[in-house]
Amino acid sequence: MEKEYLNQEREQIIDFGLKMLSAGLTTGSGGNLSCFNRDLGLIAITPSGVEYPDLTPDGIIVMTPDGALCQGEGTPSSETGFHLALYHARPDVNAVVHTHSPYATTFACLGREIPPVHYLVACAGKKVSVAPYAIFGSMELAESIVSTLGDDNAVLMANHGLVAVGETLSRAFDTAGEIELVARIYYQSLCIGTPVTLSDHQMDNVMEKFKTYRLPQ
Ligand code: 13P
Ligand code: ZN
Repeated sequence: MEKEYLNQEREQIIDFGLKMLSAGLTTGSGGNLSCFNRDLGLIAITPSGVEYPDLTPDGIIVMTPDGALCQGEGTPSSETGFHLALYHARPDVNAVVHTHSPYATTFACLGREIPPVHYLVACAGKKVSVAPYAIFGSMELAESIVSTLGDDNAVLMANHGLVAVGETLSRAFDTAGEIELVARIYYQSLCIGTPVTLSDHQMDNVMEKFKTYRLPQ
């Protein structure tokens, strides 16, 4: 029998994929998730084009950080390029969540960053920037995401969606959800008035406070 790798991570990816769907952060087979077990040097990632309710542990792909396949039926996510590029660029990141969440994607389609209109923007950084458009699945998109993300934890993808990263899958998923909430609130605020943004100093304070409020998950 083939050796089984990352059993726990593969189960977790299915759980969070289903949560992503039920939370309205994506539809169909849109978006993708991965996590990196740095001790074992292996990454588990969703397969390409499979709807979340149809995912099985055997269908989750396991690969090395340079993309060599170790296990799993089917084809790895078409966005494997940016997942791997993020793990290379950010040693603090062990999980990547990509969504097509509607409010965040609305701003991504406007090419409009999300300013600190709500303190929860601090989950991502001082704002949520927009990575310039490149076709899905391309290395150009991977470069655009990595360079725009910098040290932040979430970035909008122009005309596409959102990417969130974190130390754990749970943290990356939470960030994707919180930024979707902020995007919705920003949209609603723009509908009826002029949103007030927090200052750089106020955001520094929130980020400092998050160090103790947002305990490791
Ligand atoms: P995959 O099904 O290949 O992961 O692609 C979905 C997606 O969101 C592409 O950006
Ligand atoms: Zn996508």
